[in-house]
Amino acid sequence: MAAVRARTVLLTGSNRGIGLELVKQLLGAPRPPAWIFATCRDPEGPRAQELRDLASKHPNLVLVKLDVANPSAITDAVKIVEGKLNGMGLNLLINNAGIYTPTASLETVDAEEMIRTYKTNAVGPMLMAQAFLPLLKKAAQESTEKGLSCSKAAIINISTIMGSIEKTPESFFKPVISYRCSKAALNMLTKCQALTYGEAGILCVALHPGWVKTDMGSQEADLTVDTSVRGLLSVLPILSEKHSGTLLNWEGKAIPW
Ligand code: NDP
Repeated sequence: MAAVRARTVLLTGSNRGIGLELVKQLLGAPRPPAWIFATCRDPEGPRAQELRDLASKHPNLVLVKLDVANPSAITDAVKIVEGKLNGMGLNLLINNAGIYTPTASLETVDAEEMIRTYKTNAVGPMLMAQAFLPLLKKAAQESTEKGLSCSKAAIINISTIMGSIEKTPESFFKPVISYRCSKAALNMLTKCQALTYGEAGILCVALHPGWVKTDMGSQEADLTVDTSVRGLLSVLPILSEKHSGTLLNWEGKAIPW
């Protein structure tokens, strides 16, 4: 299995679930990144204990406080990452943090719930890409690789098949209106980012991790977090310009918008 060769990686929501497993498997790769910036809302708190244990064993793992729903926290995180990179660029930004309200049907959902979910799942990834754009551009410029790739410079938005308009009837027994609408917006954002940032050499792809056994996915889900993340990490190295601006699943199969 090919492994992603990004020298520097930043992830959001990396203290549990898919984000934490991405950190673990990246650290365990045959050639791990030189720097992994694992960001989370509360790196000092009880929910980041596993991440702290990993950081104590891996000097290439840096924990950074970052709430994606807080624009000034994003700006602060950029400064910390820039300082550590010391002139190097950022190859891979993985926008993984997300929230899900299982009870949000059309009968119950309200403005506050819609806005709260949109802020984390769609606005957060947009602000993250804007803020880290100079570092992503730097990585693209430093690279001698032709075309687009995750080892050069890339934004990966962890989305979901539930944000696919075409696929909605298949899973509408779970309406989850706020989640679906926010992830459909994230899918649109991914296309707009691909069309805008492609010129600067940055690949932009949305990935669906499958239905995964995490706090969000519940223990009824199809996939273990290990299988899902193994899949996601084997898709990253095959991504090229032909995939930019598309939605793919954890096995690399295209999902219609
Ligand atoms: P979890 O609920 O297990 O973890 C969510 C992570 O996001 C946590 O680390 C959480 O941090 C973080 N987070 C939430 N809000 C913010 C915020 N404002 N700023 C920073 N971090 C935040 O979810 P999963 O690991 O299952 O999901 C990860 C991604 O995968 C999400 O984008 C989700 O939509 C997507 N996905 C998951 C599926 C599944 O079946 N599990 C299916 C399809 C997509 P904290 O501990 O502070 O709350």
